[in-house]
Amino acid sequence: MTTEEQTTSDAYHFKAEIKQVLHILVHSLYQDREIFLRELISNASDAMTRMQFEMLTNHDVLDPDAELAIHIDVPEVAEDEPKKIIICDSGIGMTKDELVQNLGTIAQSGAREFLAKIAEGATFDANDLIGQFGVGFYSVFMVADEVRVVSRSHKKRAKAAAWLCDGSDTFRVEAAEKEDRGTEIHITLRPDAAEFANEWKLKQIVKKHSDFVRYPIYVGEAQANQQTSLWRQRPSDIQPDAYRDFYRQMTMEFEEPLLTVHFATDVPVSVHALLFVPGKREPGILASRKEPGVMLYSHNVLIQEYCTDLLPVWLQFVDGVVDSEDLPLNVSRETVQNNRLMAQLGKTIRGRLLRDLKKMGQDDAEKYEKFWNEFGRYFKEAVAIDPAAKEDVLPLYRYQSSKSDGKLISLDDYVARMAEEQEAIYFVLSDTVAAAANSPHLDPFKARGLEVLYWVDPLDALISPLLAEYKGKPFQNVDEADMELPNTAATETETDEATPIAEPDLNRFIGACVTTLGERVTEVRVSKVLKDSPVRLVSPKDAQNREMHRIQRLLDKEYEIPRKILEVNGRHPLIANLAQLATQQPDAPLLTMSIEQLYANALVQEGLHPNPADMLPQIQSILEVAAAQAVQ
Ligand code: ADP
Ligand code: MG
Repeated sequence: MTTEEQTTSDAYHFKAEIKQVLHILVHSLYQDREIFLRELISNASDAMTRMQFEMLTNHDVLDPDAELAIHIDVPEVAEDEPKKIIICDSGIGMTKDELVQNLGTIAQSGAREFLAKIAEGATFDANDLIGQFGVGFYSVFMVADEVRVVSRSHKKRAKAAAWLCDGSDTFRVEAAEKEDRGTEIHITLRPDAAEFANEWKLKQIVKKHSDFVRYPIYVGEAQANQQTSLWRQRPSDIQPDAYRDFYRQMTMEFEEPLLTVHFATDVPVSVHALLFVPGKREPGILASRKEPGVMLYSHNVLIQEYCTDLLPVWLQFVDGVVDSEDLPLNVSRETVQNNRLMAQLGKTIRGRLLRDLKKMGQDDAEKYEKFWNEFGRYFKEAVAIDPAAKEDVLPLYRYQSSKSDGKLISLDDYVARMAEEQEAIYFVLSDTVAAAANSPHLDPFKARGLEVLYWVDPLDALISPLLAEYKGKPFQNVDEADMELPNTAATETETDEATPIAEPDLNRFIGACVTTLGERVTEVRVSKVLKDSPVRLVSPKDAQNREMHRIQRLLDKEYEIPRKILEVNGRHPLIANLAQLATQQPDAPLLTMSIEQLYANALVQEGLHPNPADMLPQIQSILEVAAAQAVQ
């Protein structure tokens, strides 16, 4: 490195978005300006956590024994001088290049979003927007006329450097003097922000926004924060707001978590855990934790940032902190994985999570519905990838049903209200709730007042072969031919107004169906159960993999329509007319068209039609015939 390089100061332009963000922060007046301190403390704290993390494997760093702490000072200045604040940390530090990168030229997706929100005319609540869009560092320009960041990296050979900016479009970077590791932020306050150059006030702000930062924060000589890790405090001592703030700081997610689980136990392992079920399945675009897994601490030191070995795959959406004194410090990834303690830890945590989720299902149906809509799929996948989990996850399942009135019910709800004579749990596979509700298979169930679960998620079909029973009650697909249904108290007495169709006519119609549909059906016969629907397709009793047909169609694999039995309703007015037509004009094109259309309808109903749009020309032809007859 040349002497020239050490003495020159290089000027840089900010990235365009950062320029605009700065402009807004400098030129507007906000009520919540004090949050600049929270943002700088949060950066300092991150830098120290990264240092700690680095030192798990690498001790060859500058100042390995330095205390990890934040110091905030208000230096003396002359009467007529602008007031100042200095914030120091002993974190990982930044090299000259990193200063340029991190504080000015790196593309910040957050900055763009932030600007878009402002352009929308969002009333600018600094507290929310700044944190949310990750433009944290720049918030200092709400109070500063000038900022000088002096930093020295933990890398032993790196030299100290300084970054300077007065809130304009450019910043400078130059060599600097600094002996110890870490970062110092020298803030020259704007005259209208002079109030912040006050230790008492700074302490209040630390207490309010940064009380549970893991490192001591000294304002002047005195420590201002409680510092105890939130997860190590007694749940009864914690305000709900503190959980929310912690979650936000940890994840940068602004959607509130759906569930917070906080517990400590000593048996079988000593553990403090603070876990969250996020509000959404997809992380927000600025989420700081993009990978799955929980943070694993031992003795209050972060040993794994994304630990996926504690919880099963289907619970990886859970975020939070697990802290155990029993885990050896300085563990390698392999030893973490193979540690017997990890298995015990995992079991304990999983048990608590499932228990609390179950409880949420009982206590707060609305919230649980949100949870289930976001994360239910993982619990369905669980059955496929982790058969032993079935017992744990089935009680968490929710479905709509023919009697649930649009609400979700659990399998326990279903079993509890089964009819006395009922043995099985009935379900109908369908693409949508509307299609399920109109399924012809439901006719006999409606007539008997039997409840049927709507399995309308592709995953329901996929896992249905794996779900043999629940609490001793077998699951039963309603599309099965020749199913014996119990006669319940609610069974409607068969005083059917509709007269049966004359047998010779009906037989001719069935003959026409066989001729028209040929190999596409295994059989055509009169139904014993249909009431409101003209026809339905049922599975021959020994049909293999009937659920798989639906999956194949959804996956668009080489899809072949399965052959099924076509059942005809021998009392339906439409069939009655078609049966007459079959007798009087067996060659009428309308007869064939109608049979084709009834078959196509049944396929759609079953979720088996490869492409419903193919039906349109045929529907049009039928309309033409109908219209022509109507005007005759
Ligand atoms: P964020 O914290 O969301 O990344 P900021 O604008 O607050 O965004 O900070 C930008 C980047 O500057 C940080 O990601 C980090 O790399 C760097 N940085 C800021 N303050 C410090 C610090 N005290 N020590 C080390 N690096 C820092
Ligand atoms: Mg930050």
